[in-house]
Amino acid sequence: MQIAFIGLGNMGGPMAINLHKAGHSVKAFDLSQDALAKVKAEGLQVAASAQDAVQGAEAVITMLPASQHVEGLFLGNGNLLASIAKGALVIDSSTIAAATSQKVAKAAEAAGIDFIDAPVSGGTGGAIAGTLTFMVGGSDAQLERARPLLEKMGANIFHAGSVGAGQTAKICNNMLLGILMVGTSEAIALGVANGLDPKVLSEIMRRSSGGNWALEKYNPFPGVHENAPASKGYAGGFGTDLMLKDLGLAQENAMATKASTPLGGMARAIYAAHSIAGHGGEDFSSVIKMLQKKG
Ligand code: NAD
Repeated sequence: MQIAFIGLGNMGGPMAINLHKAGHSVKAFDLSQDALAKVKAEGLQVAASAQDAVQGAEAVITMLPASQHVEGLFLGNGNLLASIAKGALVIDSSTIAAATSQKVAKAAEAAGIDFIDAPVSGGTGGAIAGTLTFMVGGSDAQLERARPLLEKMGANIFHAGSVGAGQTAKICNNMLLGILMVGTSEAIALGVANGLDPKVLSEIMRRSSGGNWALEKYNPFPGVHENAPASKGYAGGFGTDLMLKDLGLAQENAMATKASTPLGGMARAIYAAHSIAGHGGEDFSSVIKMLQKKG
């Protein structure tokens, strides 16, 4: 299938490469030349613009940072929707506001284009391995259209509900992830301040009632998990500023629905302070730096 893939960062790059490896013809575009060079080295075709990428595409996949990027791309000055063939399928895997997904989906429907939201979980490791979890918002028929492509990038595909529902599921998950990463960091920092070995403590908690995803796969303390961002200077992974965005989306949603999310609010404030202190571009597990005793 001819696929346009737009947004080739930490997640989009490996996702596009997996589609290429599965035999699809992928034409990729990103504003960053570095990101384009990486996928070109893997044999993907690169486009000169988003308009160029979507020419002749039966499916268009986007993996962009935030709501404004998705709305800007499809409905802004470039009006990409007008360049996409009628009858094509658009899969937006970015984590954005559900309301933005619904707005773009409505415009797409008017142009005769199927649009679903399909945000993901599983981190850069899951993107590389092709084991992501997709949370889809759209009709049954739209999901079935997308499924063969999603299966090449992920291992779990959930139908959350109508368009926008995938985004709502995603921010619930990421609010929990933000909270549990702060909690895990606090617990490890406390143990280390008392002279415990972070590896031994992490293993004790992983096998005990405090066990969680960070302790399994994404330990915030350097050297505990060889492949986690913490052991690579907090490079790559899931940026602090992206987590801050997701916690902001959760709080906006909680305000609109009068939901009570006190820990989500506190986690947002902690990540905001961490970002202001200069760590916005580092992986979000670097939040442990805020909680560790210095020297
Ligand atoms: P990233 O910052 O690494 O990549 C985003 C890419 O989009 C960049 O290469 C940027 O140049 C490109 N871009 C921005 N605007 C563009 C435009 N108009 N046209 C073309 N390219 C454009 O971000 P990421 O870590 O890959 O995350 C992407 C999305 O996935 C975000 O919404 C994030 O919240 C979500 N997400 C990330 C992770 C993770 O572990 N990194 C996990 C799940 C979900």
